[in-house]
Amino acid sequence: MRLSLLIVFVLWLYPSLQEKDFSHLREKMVKEQIERRGITDQATLSSMRKVQRHLFVSDDMVDHAYEDRPLPIGYGQTISQPYIVAFMTEIIQPGPDHHVLEIGTGSGYQAAVLSGIVKEVYSIEIIDSLGSQARNRLDKLDYKNIQVRLADGYHGWKDKAPFDAIVVTAAAEHIPPPLIAQLKENGRMIIPVGSPFMIQQLMLVEKKNGRVHTSGMMPVQFVPFKRRQ
Ligand code: SAH
Repeated sequence: MRLSLLIVFVLWLYPSLQEKDFSHLREKMVKEQIERRGITDQATLSSMRKVQRHLFVSDDMVDHAYEDRPLPIGYGQTISQPYIVAFMTEIIQPGPDHHVLEIGTGSGYQAAVLSGIVKEVYSIEIIDSLGSQARNRLDKLDYKNIQVRLADGYHGWKDKAPFDAIVVTAAAEHIPPPLIAQLKENGRMIIPVGSPFMIQQLMLVEKKNGRVHTSGMMPVQFVPFKRRQ
C-alpha cells in the first residue's frame, strides 16, 4: 500500500521535476551562451528565459534542446542556435506595439521568442508540413499573437504590411525587394545574405528617410532560402 502510494506520488511529481530540470538548463543557456556573449536587451533575455525550447524539437532531440548549437527539425531544416535567435531578436529592437514579419517559421521557436515581446508576429513557412506542425504547436502552447502562413516568403505578407521589423531565418542570395518595400520607415530587417551551403553575412537593413542602409553583423551559416516556382 505504502509503496504504491509512493509510486503514484513519484509519477505525479515526474512532469514537474522534468520541467524544473529544463528551466535550470534554460537559465544556464541564457547566462552562459547569451548574456556572456553580450546580449543585454531585457525583453529578449526574459523571453529566452520563458520559451520552452525543448517543446520545439522532436522527442529524440529534447535532451539537446538547450545546447549551444542549431538542431535538425526534419525536412533538412534546423532550429537556430539559441545565441543567434537572441542576437536576431535584440538587433531589431523589438517594442511592445510592433508588428513583426518572420520568414522561415521552421519549428516556430523564433516566432515564440518574438511573441512575448511584440504585439503581433506574422510568420511565413515554405514547407507546408513544417508550417502546419509549427502552427499546431504554437496553438497548443497558447501563443495567441502569432499567425503562420504557408507560402514563399520572398513576396512578404502584403495585407499585413508595413512591418516595424522583419526577421529572415534562411540565407538569401539577395535581399528580396518586396521585403524592403514592406519595411516601415525607421524599420529594421535582419537577414543572412550569401550563397547556400557557404558562410553568409548576417545583414542589418535599416530604412531611414526612404533610403536603405545595410551593415554586416557577423558571419553565419543558415539553411538556404528556397523559392516556390
Ligand atoms: N526560425 C526557425 C528556423 C527555421 S530554419 C526556427 O526558429 O525554428 C529556416 C526555415 O526557413 C526552414 O523551415 C525553411 O523551410 C524556411 N524557408 C526557406 N525559404 C523560405 C521561403 N522562401 N519562404 C518561407 N520560408 C522559407
